[in-house]
Amino acid sequence: MTRREELAAGLAATRERIAAACRSVGRDPGEVTLTVVTKYFPASDVRLLADLGVTDVGENRHQEAEAKAAETADLGLRWHYIGGLQSNKAAAVARYADMVESLDRPKLVAGLSRGAQERGIVLPCLVQVSLDPPEQRDGRAGVRPEEIGPLAEAVVAADGLRLAGLMAVAPLGADADAAFAELAELAAALRRDHPEATVLSAGMSGDLEEAVKHGATHVRIGRAVLGERPAVQ
Ligand SMILES: *Cc1c(COP(=O)(O)O)cnc(C)c1O
Repeated sequence: MTRREELAAGLAATRERIAAACRSVGRDPGEVTLTVVTKYFPASDVRLLADLGVTDVGENRHQEAEAKAAETADLGLRWHYIGGLQSNKAAAVARYADMVESLDRPKLVAGLSRGAQERGIVLPCLVQVSLDPPEQRDGRAGVRPEEIGPLAEAVVAADGLRLAGLMAVAPLGADADAAFAELAELAAALRRDHPEATVLSAGMSGDLEEAVKHGATHVRIGRAVLGERPAVQ
């Protein structure tokens, strides 16, 4: 199999899983955007994916994302930044990202706002919420549920940023179904105050069905499309 055939097969299987998950809960598959997470894979894979119809790609490390976005700038892809953010890199991320999904500290808002304004865009941002039990929250990305509101307000108040919704990763070793049920409630609560915050980014290769069941509008899929990630260099 060529790499193109491998990616085409992974994509077809993933799209079928999304469609089946939607069918089983009566949702329209057109409501769910597939973001293919290309971290650790080369720009040549990004190019093949774009040729196979992928429109949205996700990356979680700034330097790698910046380089790949530059190498494939001709493809018109939407770049989702889904990884840990340092406040001194936030402005730089806003210069290539089309959505920042991992906003989890008020300190990041100023840099993102500055980068977006310098680029002349309004950057959609998702507040990343931690679904980990309180005792396991330390060191994991995401705000506590009670911190969503204040961080959302900070995004709304910032020039160049738009509050688009919520993002979360299921807790390690826990029941994704229960975690995403909680996430759906948090998303509904956020929409009561901010009706424009309609994006819910949840679901990875191992749990996209549970995420679709609980209203995900964006799933972030790496391994199921690209195969196991190469070891970190
Ligand atoms: C790597 C990553 C994904 C994709 O995970 P897979 O298990 O490869 O599908 C999704 N979301 C985030 C935040 C990630 O870091």
